[in-house]
Amino acid sequence: MNLRLPGLVDGHVHLREPGGEHKENIASGTAAALTGGVTMLLAMPNTSPPIVGAEGLRLVQRLVGETALCDVGLFVGAAEDNATQAAALSAETAGLKIYMDQTYGPLRMRGLAALLTHFATWPARRPIAVHAEGLSVAMAIGLARSFGRRLHLCHISRADEIALIRAAKASGADVTCEVTPHHLFLTEADAGRLGPYGSMKPPLATQADVEALWAHLDGVDCIATDHAPHTRAEKEGAEPPPGVPGLETMLPLLLTAVAEGRLSMERLVELTHDGPQRIYGLPVQAETWVEVDTDARYTVTSDLLHTRCGWNPFEGMDVQGRVRQVVLRGQTVFRDGRIKAAPGYGRVVVPNQ
Ligand SMILES: [Zn+2]
Repeated sequence: MNLRLPGLVDGHVHLREPGGEHKENIASGTAAALTGGVTMLLAMPNTSPPIVGAEGLRLVQRLVGETALCDVGLFVGAAEDNATQAAALSAETAGLKIYMDQTYGPLRMRGLAALLTHFATWPARRPIAVHAEGLSVAMAIGLARSFGRRLHLCHISRADEIALIRAAKASGADVTCEVTPHHLFLTEADAGRLGPYGSMKPPLATQADVEALWAHLDGVDCIATDHAPHTRAEKEGAEPPPGVPGLETMLPLLLTAVAEGRLSMERLVELTHDGPQRIYGLPVQAETWVEVDTDARYTVTSDLLHTRCGWNPFEGMDVQGRVRQVVLRGQTVFRDGRIKAAPGYGRVVVPNQ
């Protein structure tokens, strides 16, 4: 059956430009997005150099305007000393991204002083998105409550984290959270099989954690890919960087879950469109939709994928559901495996004021 869905909004993507163009750039990353039915994405600031002020933001806005194939919103990153500059950019960014735990890139925050300054300075009406794992989730919720800030918890992956977020929401905290497809569809057993290609932050979890994510999906606000490409050479090097691509496989995996009765189509749309739009206050894309064939069965391979890194952790998995066509602002931008959009058709996304 062919079905129309709204264009997906992916709230967590690493486009790697500037500084990591050998892994991905804005053109290849947004091509991967359209292939997966994603018409709007939010790009993370841990590029090289990172986006921590007006100069870096202007550069990436210009690159998006020249080369993007889908619409792109941008995060500003928290550094030790940029709270005022970051807050000044709040109206034109999706949110402030704070790295409270170790990940790829230079933006890890250390110590309480800079965190306090950021939570006190960032405008209360705009979200603060955090990379927080384990105890850091509790720290982030405590900081947000203390300063009356809106908190979004990225890539939640553990049963105890989900339990804490449920309790925080029940107590009235202004907290939202996301989960990734790799934490929903892969476990630590897959990490053993995949080796460096199964390494990411947070790492793949136990079967019990994965079951907890599915069981408590009603308490999850959105699904985001955390698309984080690295080359095969980097992954097979002495110190493989964490991260996996995911833009092209999110929708087929979720459509498979719908076919298996694990997820309703209505909930799929909430988690990949309504949820991220609500969390970040994103504009509606007019005349924008994705046509999917919900009967198409195939095995995920790496050869048809548009991401520059050329591999995928879901390779070999049988899925049901294929993206046939993507229409953005009335124009066909993807059809049957081919990109139809011209570079620069995508726009910089400015949140609703
Ligand atoms: Zn990330």
